[in-house]
Amino acid sequence: MVKKQSFRDIALRRIKRLFELAELEAARGREDRSDRYVQLARKIGMRYRVRIPRHLKMRVCKSCKSYLIPGRNMRVRLRGDYITTTCLKCGRQMRRPYKPERVIHHSSVARE
Ligand SMILES: [Zn+2]
Repeated sequence: MVKKQSFRDIALRRIKRLFELAELEAARGREDRSDRYVQLARKIGMRYRVRIPRHLKMRVCKSCKSYLIPGRNMRVRLRGDYITTTCLKCGRQMRRPYKPERVIHHSSVARE
């Protein structure tokens, strides 16, 4: 029997897929499309009240909602216990605690 999926599972899968597409478009230099994909992902997240996974959320600027590409429109700096990411489009800085012992953090960075 096929396991029944909740609409939230499906929504989360769509969100992840949209971020994958955003990454693909970014690799092609089509950041305008990447931005559209992540905006769509955010909308799905809000509609179904699905939390966007942290490692994906940090790839979207909180201020201008651009898809952030490290080394292109995003700058990443480690400062003590904090990791600071700067959106080079609007200059918005985001800071979050840096905890090396967390496996989640490593997997999000190592995927590049
Ligand atoms: Zn920005």
